[in-house]
Amino acid sequence: MQNFTFQNSTKVIFGRDKEKTVGTEVKEYSDHVLLHYGGGSIKKYGVYDDVIDSLEEAGVEVTELGGVQPNPRLSLVEEGIEICREKDIDFILAVGGGSVIDSAKSIAAGVPYEGDVWDFFAGEAEIETALPVGTVLTIPAAGSETSPAAVVTNEEEDLKWDIGSNKLRPQFSILNPEITYTLPDYQTACGAADMMAHIMERYFTKTEDVELTDKLCAGTLRTIINNTPCALKEPKNYDARAEIMWAGTIAHNDLLGTGREEDWASHAIEHELSALYDVAHGAGLAVIFPAWMEYVHQEHVERFAQFAVDVWNVDPDFYNVEQTAKKGIEKTREFFSSIGLPVSLEELGVPTNKLEEMADKCTSGGPVGNFKSLDKEDVFRIYKLSQN
Ligand code: NAP
Ligand code: FE
Repeated sequence: MQNFTFQNSTKVIFGRDKEKTVGTEVKEYSDHVLLHYGGGSIKKYGVYDDVIDSLEEAGVEVTELGGVQPNPRLSLVEEGIEICREKDIDFILAVGGGSVIDSAKSIAAGVPYEGDVWDFFAGEAEIETALPVGTVLTIPAAGSETSPAAVVTNEEEDLKWDIGSNKLRPQFSILNPEITYTLPDYQTACGAADMMAHIMERYFTKTEDVELTDKLCAGTLRTIINNTPCALKEPKNYDARAEIMWAGTIAHNDLLGTGREEDWASHAIEHELSALYDVAHGAGLAVIFPAWMEYVHQEHVERFAQFAVDVWNVDPDFYNVEQTAKKGIEKTREFFSSIGLPVSLEELGVPTNKLEEMADKCTSGGPVGNFKSLDKEDVFRIYKLSQN
């Protein structure tokens, strides 16, 4: 096991009706918030009213900025920064999913910074300070509710890049599984794929002697695999929704990466798809991850065999190591397909005329991934493997 520092300071408030306490939480930090949200689901399903009532009751002034699109855009982040500066707002409340939370974090980083907020994404500046952020999560998926990361699309340049800093971890996140009852099946499935990918990016490591985190990873993956079909069949099954929601946070709060080197190539390869074609991140991962697995599994075939046994119950007595490893990959792909996700670029509706350009952009900062370091040619081959 490698040395590590684990610090996750976000207060998680979990359970029925908890969004109605948001005013009290915010009031500890601020009297005037930017309420940031997406395309309207929170208004349609009542979350907005509950949040506004709670903020009013606590005496918190609200300025609103809605309209965050999935794959959040830099232009709205810039607008949010201007509003906060003009109105002296010192807290951002994100009510939504990963896109809204990431947009909120980026605004939070940009307000106190004199330069262009994109500098952080381009690696030209370090985040030294940021406004505090709180969240009411409406879709379990990205794990941004406790993560230090934010991913934003620079729509003028077709770039989807990320930033990471402990300063961006939300102060608090409110998770009420009931809010997720209204998710379309496709979004529930995309969320499951994203959280599974967050775990698998950490599971596939060459670091030896990491038994505890391996078991935590496998247990969390199995929980998602068990409960997602149930939530799709019964969207108002509280327990299934609750297991998934908590799993989404655990998947990405850094606990499952302790003591080991992580990979993250599949995320980098997927980001090129969502940057260029605006596909849902989870759907892109359902296509890319199994292709990545196929491409790299021989780097450490025993680890892939262990994955097949621990996560998918493959019986190692029936197969040799290579076959066991392959079974695990097959079952992962089958699962994504069974919950209604695309598993090829063709099914995702992505044309294949820009694969080389995407591979080039993906590796513009050097090779990606740690389990196997991938250069442009490798990434191109993974796109080709995922074609149909
Ligand atoms: P999302 O993009 O925030 O939301 C997806 C869709 O779900 C939106 O159309 C939204 O509609 C709808 N929705 C959300 N909650 C709903 C509800 N309760 N009922 C009905 N519809 C609802 O989804 P996401 O998967 O959470 O976020 C994806 C983004 O996160 C990507 O850009 C990805 O790259 C990023 N990401 C970030 C991290 C990180 O650590 N920061 C990690 C992985 C991925 P409305 O807009 O109308 O609300
Ligand atoms: Fe992700």
